[in-house]
Amino acid sequence: MKIVDIRTQIIKAPLKKPFKTALRRVDSLEDLVVTIYTESGLVGYGEGASTAVITGDTISSMVGAIEYIKSMLIGKTIEDFNSLLYIIEHSMVHNSTTKSILEMAIYDLKAQSLKLPLYRYLGGSKTSFRTDITISINSIDKMLQESKEAIDLGYDILKIKVGKSISEDFEIIKSIAQTFPDITLRVDANQAWSPKESLYILKRLERLNIYPELIEQPVKANDFRGMKYIRDRSIIPILADESIFSPKQAIEILELEACDYINIKLAKCGGISNGLKIADIAELYGVKCMIGCMLEGAISVGASVHLASARENSITMLDLDGVNLLANNPILGGVEFNESQIRLNSSYGLGILRI
Ligand code: MG
Repeated sequence: MKIVDIRTQIIKAPLKKPFKTALRRVDSLEDLVVTIYTESGLVGYGEGASTAVITGDTISSMVGAIEYIKSMLIGKTIEDFNSLLYIIEHSMVHNSTTKSILEMAIYDLKAQSLKLPLYRYLGGSKTSFRTDITISINSIDKMLQESKEAIDLGYDILKIKVGKSISEDFEIIKSIAQTFPDITLRVDANQAWSPKESLYILKRLERLNIYPELIEQPVKANDFRGMKYIRDRSIIPILADESIFSPKQAIEILELEACDYINIKLAKCGGISNGLKIADIAELYGVKCMIGCMLEGAISVGASVHLASARENSITMLDLDGVNLLANNPILGGVEFNESQIRLNSSYGLGILRI
């Protein structure tokens, strides 16, 4: 099944409300969708978001990178699957989102050619999942109100974004934890704290018997020793997100014993094959993973759900709320997203663009 053409398309969709973290504010989804055409007529889709402050990828850099790589893929066949993945991985350094988008479309075609849903092709069984939802950084009152709205929609896991100031961040975590004692609380600082600031906040929470399920990326991405400093001194688990792009970085941080959990994101690690590797590496070290997403749509978030099914024993936490934050979903078919409930069905194909 020969690849005959590869095209890109930018899709835009409004969010229900602005998405705000310590690193950025986003008002609408802007994703790149890649379509790979084959001579058999089967079409594969891949998708990814421009998240420049995390991956360095912009829409125009991704379009340029795909133009660069596509000549290496056109004329090859999907049956040369491993060879295609190798070409994408080694075509250039960095550009992890571009590589993820192209890989995703190749995986989509491979599974479709075998008439299997992707998770079945990957050997997965699990079809039902629960995701958390992100509560953006805002005033305490607004974050409390948005937490209440999310709980009313059926969410029982909240991921709250912090990173304003140490005193405000502490008050936000305390207020939400004490107002909603039955929910599971995940806290994402997006690198905003120093190691000592992190410890100061975590110790104050411990004294109040407030134990979030985890603190995500409290310190700078490259500060593995800072992560370890905190982990060695607090019982609140530390999750590494921006610290880990590649399987090799996963090994480095796990060898240092600097985190309790790893957040796998396709846009960071360069796609499904490296996502599988990171999940397998974490399993070797006895560490569980979260699977997360950027602010992206149903094709790429869906691909992450298929990956979660394929490694259900290693990937135990889902932070896959990207589609739920959209005012409308521009993708037809694929994975079923219904607020906190996510379902894989027996259809094959990651979904298609709504015309
Ligand atoms: Mg994060």
